[in-house]
Amino acid sequence: SEDFSGRSVTVAGLGVSGVPTAKALHRLGAKVTVVNGSDDDRARSQAAELEALGLTVRLGDGETLPPGTELVVTTPGWKPSSPLFAAAEAAGVAVWGDVELAWRLRGPNAADWLAITGTNGKTTTVKMLASMLEAAGLRTAAVGNIGVPLVDVVLGDEPYDVLAVELSSYQLHWAPSLRVHSAAVLNLAPDHLDWHGSMEAYAADKGRIYEGNQVACVYNVADPATEDLVREADVVEGCRAIGFTLGTPAPSQLGVVEGLLVDRAFVDDRRQNAQELAAVTDVHPTVPHNIANALAAAALARAYGVEPAAIRQGLLNFRPDAHRIAHVADVAGVAYIDDSKATNTHAAEASLAAYEHIVWIAGGLAKGAEFDDLVAKAAPRLRGVVLIGAERGLIREALERQAPDVPVVDLDRTDEGAMAAAVAAAARLAEEGDTVLLAPACASMDMFTNYNVRGDMFAAAVREMV
Ligand code: ADP
Repeated sequence: SEDFSGRSVTVAGLGVSGVPTAKALHRLGAKVTVVNGSDDDRARSQAAELEALGLTVRLGDGETLPPGTELVVTTPGWKPSSPLFAAAEAAGVAVWGDVELAWRLRGPNAADWLAITGTNGKTTTVKMLASMLEAAGLRTAAVGNIGVPLVDVVLGDEPYDVLAVELSSYQLHWAPSLRVHSAAVLNLAPDHLDWHGSMEAYAADKGRIYEGNQVACVYNVADPATEDLVREADVVEGCRAIGFTLGTPAPSQLGVVEGLLVDRAFVDDRRQNAQELAAVTDVHPTVPHNIANALAAAALARAYGVEPAAIRQGLLNFRPDAHRIAHVADVAGVAYIDDSKATNTHAAEASLAAYEHIVWIAGGLAKGAEFDDLVAKAAPRLRGVVLIGAERGLIREALERQAPDVPVVDLDRTDEGAMAAAVAAAARLAEEGDTVLLAPACASMDMFTNYNVRGDMFAAAVREMV
């Protein structure tokens, strides 16, 4: 692995990714300068911590390349169009992300990487995969964008056989030499386009995860854009394309399709002797998009040689994170579901597709999204809609265009009690057997600290009614 002693390395950004990266480089003997655009209180306290260790920190200017820089290591906050990178390019200085750095720092007995990206479902799928690998008796962990810095894992003392790695499109953009054992792209929908510049650039960054794959490229048969990325990838000779699907694959589709869902069981279909992996009801929560996540995890685990029994056991051991289709309670025959993590239309579309008769609580910050498609698809299932948040008008207008008959309660409140009022309004609209679904299709920061708080307030309001 690389020798950093005495090298002048500039780290772009503090924060959850920059601080551990800077510390790791410092421990490796590099002369580290951290540059950070803002100089607010949080930045100052992080800077003080790093300076006490002997690193240099420059606050208030994230655009100029410090003289003498031999390498730039960046964090997700920096857009590719930033002047810092133009300066690096002009000076012939390479730019790496934290994943590139971690990849280059792996030791000779390094763990294999099974990598997962996609617009939605990454964290869930990575955790399912880690659970399967663990059930197989392998030393493993769920790491990466999930909140566990890869640099720390790679340089740590804990020995691993194989890692379940969540990668964001930002991380993949700056990881040119990454060549993993096997990888999956779960789905592709417009997101983070302000960072990447265009849908094409976003897809191309996601597709980097397949470059140089050794054993398997796992893709989503229902999402042809993921299949296109496999076609375009340059992989090791003999590497297989594995599609996962909830339906029956068409013969024209790429590669061997394994892990398809037949009736009520997963089948590992090597085209000769199909083998049952697990039952659909082994997946929690048992909703279509989550079954797709389970199939992707199973395909990667199978590519790594995990036996069917361990795949099933891994699914049984798996517990979803909070605010992802969490069943809060049944009140008067109505189920209340917290999917506060559905912060974009693609995620909300998946959860809306999972229930028959829905009172939908939605709204917040739209991040430039359009809602007509989502609303048109959901319309036949909607008993009613309760709108909250700053940009709820965008959803209301889409409803007026696409679903004029659906009753809408437009809640013009942003105070503390607003979520309880939304739940009460939803309860009035719901009939026995219905589902009240919090799947906002929007970010939460207009009304709440984050999606966790939004989901907690929903759950608290529901429990008040029990
Ligand atoms: P990520 O790490 O990609 O943000 P999560 O597993 O945290 O993904 O799930 C985020 C949200 O996306 C959840 O609210 C869930 O409803 C939705 N979701 C999960 N899996 C999928 C999928 N395969 N397709 C569409 N939406 C999904």
